[in-house]
Amino acid sequence: MNVLLIGPPGSGKGTQGQVLADRLLLRHIAAGDLLRAEVEAGSPIGRRVSGYLDVGELVPDEVMLDLMTPEIEAATAAGGYLLDGFPRTVAQAQAAQARGDNRSAPHAVIVLEVPDEVLIARIAERGRADDTEDVVRNRLQIYAEETTPLLDLYRDHGLLHVIDGTMDVEAVSDAILAELDVPRA
Ligand code: AMP
Repeated sequence: MNVLLIGPPGSGKGTQGQVLADRLLLRHIAAGDLLRAEVEAGSPIGRRVSGYLDVGELVPDEVMLDLMTPEIEAATAAGGYLLDGFPRTVAQAQAAQARGDNRSAPHAVIVLEVPDEVLIARIAERGRADDTEDVVRNRLQIYAEETTPLLDLYRDHGLLHVIDGTMDVEAVSDAILAELDVPRA
């Protein structure tokens, strides 16, 4: 099974991605984690993307596709993925579909809904390098402008499951598993 997890910054997609991947025996792929690992390593990709991460802008699609496509293909071959953070735009989704084969398409798309004021409070406690107030505002605005249209696309395809992301971690996981028709225990 291939599952996408989408949500604004601070919605818990990284945490849920890990929990659900373990529970469903899927490979967890987190776009932001992969990017931060490249930056840490000082690789050519890392040097190319660090400025975007610093200000909360989207990394160019070509870079994202080159980074994500092999991960998605490998996870699909290994039995499925739990992917968070990619695609983030309609253009990325379309390009990923064009590059991958049919088997690597998502079977379900989970969106974590959390109001902005809750996100801002949560992020203030987290303290990542790109969690300063200006950068967070930029990331929230990009989510609203660029990622929300992607949700409409998945809704039109009957793939979208909307989850209340304000609940505690376990309740959110349970709600997602119920949406995916997976027994809880
Ligand atoms: P995240 O950890 O998912 O919040 O991502 C952190 C940062 O990585 C974002 O603010 C973007 O700068 C970059 N990023 C992550 N995923 C993508 C993507 N699919 N497309 C473009 N940039 C991305």
